[in-house]
Amino acid sequence: MPDNRIITVPREEIVFPEQTIAKLAEYCGEDEDLIGEWKNIADEAAKHSVPKGMYAILPIELSGSRIDIGGIVTENDFVAEHFSKAGIHRVFPYIATAGEELLEWSKTITDPILAYMLDQLMNSVVGIAAAKTTQAIRDEFRIEGRLSAMSPGSVSKWTTTMGQPYLFDLLGGQAVVKESIGVTLTPTMMMLPRKSVSSIGFETGEHNFQMCQYCPRLDCPNRRAESMVAPRG
Ligand code: SF4
Repeated sequence: MPDNRIITVPREEIVFPEQTIAKLAEYCGEDEDLIGEWKNIADEAAKHSVPKGMYAILPIELSGSRIDIGGIVTENDFVAEHFSKAGIHRVFPYIATAGEELLEWSKTITDPILAYMLDQLMNSVVGIAAAKTTQAIRDEFRIEGRLSAMSPGSVSKWTTTMGQPYLFDLLGGQAVVKESIGVTLTPTMMMLPRKSVSSIGFETGEHNFQMCQYCPRLDCPNRRAESMVAPRG
């Protein structure tokens, strides 16, 4: 059983950039009433947000495609190759979530435009949860260089089916994750609440690994690095 750390982001640290609110308000067009309603919803969303994260530090041993993290073993060529290139001896599995409180409250917004805008805003909340979780890892383990994320489901070589159960096992299993931060896995390996992210954090040093480099989804608004695998036009 790993020595998990659990964090809850304090309410005062949930601040949406004005640009994000204004950009989303463009969906309201010239409708001043709708814009006013949107601003109220954004305020309420911040009040209902209880973003959380959990993480652990575990030793890793590699042998070919065999990956042993804290005595829990899986096999994957892609993951083993990049862990090996990074030359690591420890990893930081983590899960971060916007929190079930926000997702439950979001169901009360039934106007389709406002519901869509709120859905986009909730991406910012899970972003805050992930940023606070990785910052906590950096602070606790004094990581000053790059901390990359190996996330199940971002690439076909490590699908959610391959990676998600393994990652949950690294944090003590699905029951522990549920009890700690309220995140569960569906039979199709989706996380609930759906505004959640999971990764194995690892220090990359000179091996500047970014999942986006291996992901073909060119239309992703969150892309952080150019794709090396997407078809060229
Ligand atoms: S491009 Fe988007 S979906 Fe693909 S790995 Fe990057 S953030 Fe994830």
